[in-house]
Amino acid sequence: MDTAETFINIQENHPTIRFAAKELSRYLNLAGIKTKILLERSKAQKNKNQISLCIDRPSETDHILIKPDKNGYIISGSNPRSVLFASYRFLYEMGFRWIRPGKRGEIIPSIKRIKKDISIDEIPSYKYRTLCIEGAVSCQHVIDIIDWAAKNYMNGYFIQFHLGTSFFKRWYQHSDNPYMKPEKLGKEDVEKIVARIIKEIEKRGIRFERMGHGWTCRALGIEGEGWDTENEGLKKISQEKQKYLAMLNGKREFFRNVPLNTNLCYSNPEVRSAITDAIVDYAEKHPEVDALHFWLADGSNNNCECENCIKTRVSDFYVMMLNELDKKLTLRNIPTKIIFLIYVDLLWPPEREKIENQDRFIIMFAPITRSYSHSFSDTKPEEGIKPYVKNKLVFPKNAADNMLYLQRWQENFKGDGVDFDYHIIWACYYDLNHFTLAKVLHKDIGYLKKMNLHGFISCQVQRASFPTNLLMDILSRTLWNRKISFNAVVEETFDNAFGKKYSRDVAEFLRKMSDLWKPFFEPVFIPKTDEKRINLGLDNIKKMQDICKSFRPLVKKQVACEKNAVGWSWKYLDYYLELLDLLIPAYSAYLRRSSDCREKFERAFDFVKKNEKILHPALDVSTFTGVLRWRINEAEGIV
Ligand SMILES: [Zn+2]
Repeated sequence: MDTAETFINIQENHPTIRFAAKELSRYLNLAGIKTKILLERSKAQKNKNQISLCIDRPSETDHILIKPDKNGYIISGSNPRSVLFASYRFLYEMGFRWIRPGKRGEIIPSIKRIKKDISIDEIPSYKYRTLCIEGAVSCQHVIDIIDWAAKNYMNGYFIQFHLGTSFFKRWYQHSDNPYMKPEKLGKEDVEKIVARIIKEIEKRGIRFERMGHGWTCRALGIEGEGWDTENEGLKKISQEKQKYLAMLNGKREFFRNVPLNTNLCYSNPEVRSAITDAIVDYAEKHPEVDALHFWLADGSNNNCECENCIKTRVSDFYVMMLNELDKKLTLRNIPTKIIFLIYVDLLWPPEREKIENQDRFIIMFAPITRSYSHSFSDTKPEEGIKPYVKNKLVFPKNAADNMLYLQRWQENFKGDGVDFDYHIIWACYYDLNHFTLAKVLHKDIGYLKKMNLHGFISCQVQRASFPTNLLMDILSRTLWNRKISFNAVVEETFDNAFGKKYSRDVAEFLRKMSDLWKPFFEPVFIPKTDEKRINLGLDNIKKMQDICKSFRPLVKKQVACEKNAVGWSWKYLDYYLELLDLLIPAYSAYLRRSSDCREKFERAFDFVKKNEKILHPALDVSTFTGVLRWRINEAEGIV
């Protein structure tokens, strides 16, 4: 294609395909190529510089195709969002990069002419590639990650709860950072934010998932938007509905005062009906939702002990509700998919009930109690399935033990399934250098197929690009192609982020630091003090300090000369080294259990809080400090 104007020809007038055309045009213009969008197929066009956008081989499963033709290129996909993915892929092939969410991540090449002979025909390894809201978020943070997700072929976004109010409150109220000014955030504000976010999801044709916990609250006639405590006892629920509450220790009340963590008396048909009615009502009012999550209360070992509930597993009642719900939805012609959750008490499969209309459902395995030091692929079962003793359940830690429970469920459920997992919410702060965790994530995603799962929902902080975007890149690349090697993603991430000349130095620094950090990824004092890991950790800390010292001059030099997205990579790394200057002594105090442990960590927290205005697009300061506080508490014996 020559340097004359390039026509972007929209052959299917769908909002997402129009958006794909706008994105192609905008980015090509930025790179120096003049473009014009043609809104309808024009047969008279005989221009040789044409990019035609269309649907090919229509399917819900993503498929991207790019092929040269006599007029230029045909960029197509199996559905509108795949056409968008293919458009971004086309730009990628010409050197565009999005190395982290937001403007700070954009790399725009300078292009004289459109590259010849780009030919792509790819189907992703997994059908579901979803991000789930967690941590502290602003409207912009969410919009940025949705935008990044589409550019990296992630095809789903999940807002937990109706509006995800708690996540927005954590950001806008800044209750844990005195350096940030709190902003007013009423219900109307959150509604407006979520409406904007839904527009961004719809614009990209991405699958939209919603809700999760909270149906138990709706059945009681109260909101279940977060884990707020209720201090007025049962005042807000009617006398009649108080008997819906699970009975624990002979009493029907909120579980530790948290309505969201309160299960109900599921043997009562009225209760089951109230829950399924609430879901049907919601699904009917929200046709924008592709998949609705139906989870029971949060928390564990909190199920009803009344005489009618005690004899039956909670999963049997759950499946009864799933079947009731499906019948009600079918009766009203509502096609919404329902995602059900295998989690804590529900890990133990039903003894009697079976899911009838399996096409309605997606099984979601959420091994929240697992360790992230090892992958599903390289662990072996140690304890097997433990006995089911209501409210005295002991949950599996080893990843392979967790899988045994899933396999039991899968004996009777043959529909689609996903892993709902937590690598990038807490574990990313155990391994701050991310290399060890990234390897586990890479192996886990590669292994999902062997677990008969069809994808992954990453329950994660929305800002996980500090010090680098490695975890996010591993997530998106491996979900697209489960056979891509770990090193291939590492090389791409670091070459793009830091430039080829020094990318290996940065990767090696973080790889070594991550290795040395290993002895204290997991608590060293609980369940019992592990002297071996403590001593190894203390030795490693001395080595870390030397490595940081010799690495610093390169970072300082690069910060001074690099600009734009690559400049930001070096800046973040520079902040990270400053943070390590404070954190490494704090970890030393933790390992030695010395009395200044808290004070040392607080100094590191003060540093990130003071710099939150600069760091916030890459680092979720609130979750970071929250997770690291667990270590202080552990050292002080507050568990
Ligand atoms: Zn009961």
